[in-house]
Amino acid sequence: MIIVMKPKTTDEKIEKIKRKMESLGCSIHESKGQNYHLIGLVGDTSRIDPSQIQANRSVEKLIFVQEPYKKANRLFHPEETVVKINDKEIGGNKFSVIAGPCSVESQEQIISIAEDIKESGAAFLRGGAYKPRTSPYSFQGLRDEGLELLKIAKEKTGLPIVTELMSADKLEKFIENVDIIQIGARNMQNFDLLKEVGKTNKPILLKRGMSATIEELLMAAEYVMSEGNEKVILCERGIRTFEKYTRNTLDLSAIPVIKKYSHLPVIVDPSHASGLWWLVEPMAKAALVAGADGLMVEVHNDPANAKCDGQQSIKPERFKALMNTLKQLAKIENKEV
Ligand code: PEP
Ligand code: MN
Repeated sequence: MIIVMKPKTTDEKIEKIKRKMESLGCSIHESKGQNYHLIGLVGDTSRIDPSQIQANRSVEKLIFVQEPYKKANRLFHPEETVVKINDKEIGGNKFSVIAGPCSVESQEQIISIAEDIKESGAAFLRGGAYKPRTSPYSFQGLRDEGLELLKIAKEKTGLPIVTELMSADKLEKFIENVDIIQIGARNMQNFDLLKEVGKTNKPILLKRGMSATIEELLMAAEYVMSEGNEKVILCERGIRTFEKYTRNTLDLSAIPVIKKYSHLPVIVDPSHASGLWWLVEPMAKAALVAGADGLMVEVHNDPANAKCDGQQSIKPERFKALMNTLKQLAKIENKEV
């Protein structure tokens, strides 16, 4: 961090700000010219609140040299993180596909979809049990029963399960029964929830908030990691823009940007990003080529009667065709599906 002082600031005021920064654990490197005075802060700046410096009337501006996230930052962890889930991995040279319905609806439905996606090569089963719905009158998920049905599907297929945690009061249940805990877009900045999952040892799938910048997503990951849990998988799921044709706008460039600044694996959800079943395939292919570590895809055996997100769910046959295409593309990208 570099503090640029206003020209003609008195020595007394400069000394005061320097002492304050030193008391917060930084050492000072100064540079002085005729019309400028720079105070460089060296060392751990995490205890410094930038807004307090900016509030100082003698400060012209503050220049950030480093990103505010540390544990998620590639600078301090140059090698890629590979998250291990039982005998599977997300990250590295793997391209891992998580698939399944938006929400678990019945035993028959979840088992049938789980069997189909497994046969096509999916590595994980998704399915919402506790659903974050915009309307309180929409289907809210089968909740505890949904979780039980996911367990049955796991027993039948061996596929590890990914499902969304909405509130910390279900955390113990999730630790016991779920393989990857999903934190949804709407909860990306639920900081208390992030801290709670950060105290566990479970892999966390952290979805980007619909209006979150990449830095905010990485700061959300930092919340989880700062509590000790470094098994974080990021998910780009589209952001809100002025475009109305698609449900969200898939920010494909977020993949290489995140890869540049962070060592965490990043996957893409083309279903929530586009909101249209026929856009899932092109967006999934684009995600692989852009460098994603995997996908989360909504698959339903009867989309027209789905209780949630049927319009963006692909049928098992289409999923199979998509997986075959991805296997071909993965070879070119030196990835393994
Ligand atoms: C989901 O994956 O079920 C979901 C609700 O997605 P998002 O949090 O990205 O909206
Ligand atoms: Mn959905």
